[in-house]
Amino acid sequence: MDLSNIENWDTFLLRYPGIILSGSRARGTVKIKNKWYRLRLNCPYFPHLKDFSLEIQQPQKNTLAKISNNDLQTHWTVYDVMENLPILYNDCGFAFSSKEEKPVTTNIYQAIADLYAPERYLLELDDLCTRLRFSKFEENEQHYLQIELPSLKISDHSLPSCFAWEEQLQKYDNISAIVQQFQKYIQDLQPFYENFADIDELCYVVQPRPPVSTKCNWRIFVLRERVYLKLVIADPFASMASMSIQIIGPTQAVEELRRTLSEGLSTWDAELDIHKNLLRIFNLCYFPMPPGSGWLGGEADNASTEPQFCNICYSYQLDEGQIPIVSCDNIKCTMIYHAACLKEWFNTLSDGKDFLSVSFGACPFCKTKLSTSFSELLLN
Ligand SMILES: [Zn+2]
Ligand SMILES: [Zn+2]
Repeated sequence: MDLSNIENWDTFLLRYPGIILSGSRARGTVKIKNKWYRLRLNCPYFPHLKDFSLEIQQPQKNTLAKISNNDLQTHWTVYDVMENLPILYNDCGFAFSSKEEKPVTTNIYQAIADLYAPERYLLELDDLCTRLRFSKFEENEQHYLQIELPSLKISDHSLPSCFAWEEQLQKYDNISAIVQQFQKYIQDLQPFYENFADIDELCYVVQPRPPVSTKCNWRIFVLRERVYLKLVIADPFASMASMSIQIIGPTQAVEELRRTLSEGLSTWDAELDIHKNLLRIFNLCYFPMPPGSGWLGGEADNASTEPQFCNICYSYQLDEGQIPIVSCDNIKCTMIYHAACLKEWFNTLSDGKDFLSVSFGACPFCKTKLSTSFSELLLN
C-alpha cells in the first residue's frame, strides 16, 4: 500500500456533514442509502486503512459493533468503507420510517447549523450527534426542548405536563418548525405562567416546594392559619376558564370559606388575574408570606405561618419537600400532620374508610373524627 498520498479530510467532511473531526478521530452520524449510522472511526493515514478502526452503534442497544479487518478489502479507502456500511453492518442502520422516506431536500445537520442563534437560545448537540437540546430561551430562561436525531422525537421539554405537547410537536417534519412552534407555545402560555408567577411571588406556596418547575399546573398556598388554597389550571391555554380552587383545612373552616368562595366566584373579574381575584374574594390586602420573608401577610399574625412539625413523624419537611398541612377538626387540638403520614395512620385504623376520594379516620392525638382527601394532597 502506498501511504505517501495522504489527503486531508475536507472532502470527507463535505460529503458526510454529520461528522465531527478531532485529529485523526471522527465521530457522528452518516446517511448511506436511506439509513443513518452513528459511528466513531480512527483513520491515522487518511484515507488509507492502515491502523484503521471503526465502531458503529447498534440500534436499541447501548453497544458498539466493531469492524473486523477481515471484512475490508486491501485496495479500499475509508470512502469504500462508508459506502459499504449497509453490507458490513446490515443490522446497524437506523431506517427511515415511511414518513421520512420522502426526498430529503435539506441535510439535517445543515438544518442544525442554520438554527445556531446564540442570542435567542442555547443549542447543544451531544457527542454522538443523536440529541439536540435547546435551552435558556431569550426572556424564558427556564424553558428547554430536547429532540432525538434523526427521528425528531421530542424526548424532554419544559411545558406544562397536563397537555400532550409531544404529539403536537411531532407533527412537524423539520427541526426549525418544531422550535418555532415551541417558542410560539411559550408565548401563548404567558397568561398561564403570569398567573402562577404572582402566586409564587406573593403567597406562601407550600406545595410543590419552590422553585416550582415550569411543568407544574397547580399550587397549594396558605390562606390563613391551618387553611390552604389549592389552585389547579387544567387547560394552560384557558387559565381562568379551566381553573379550580379547593380549600384545605379543618372541616368547619372549610365549610364557611367555601360559601365565601362560591359567592365570590360569581362576581369574578376577568380583567384581574387569579391572585387579585382571590384577594378580593377573601377580602384580603395580601396573602400570608413565608416565615422570614420580612413582612407579614393579611390578617395572619406571625405564629400562623411559623413552621410547625408533623405530630406523627416529628419532622417538618419530607424528602420530596412536603410540609405538614392537614390539621385536626377539633378546634381545641393544635395537631398538624403530613398528608402522607396521616394516610399511613388511617391505614392502620380498623374503622378507617374511604368514600369517593375522601378518607375518614381519627386524629392520632385527640381521637376526633377526621376526614381528608389524600388524592388531592398527595399529587405527584
Ligand atoms: Zn409527618
Ligand atoms: Zn386532634
